Amino acid sequence: MSNERAVPFHCPYCADDNLWPHESDDSSVKGAWECRSCQRAFTVKMLGMLRREVKA
Ligand SMILES: [Zn+2]
Repeated sequence: MSNERAVPFHCPYCADDNLWPHESDDSSVKGAWECRSCQRAFTVKMLGMLRREVKA
């Protein structure tokens, strides 16, 4: 699971869902996406799991 690519469902900048995988010229950039509505490219990086319990 931790190796899965994170898939954003909406652009964090304009909230549109017109997202596509982004091919960066920089090979160190992984998991990049581009929003074709606002023409931004960005990455999604998971920092880790939350340790606190979520109370229903
Ligand atoms: Zn956008």
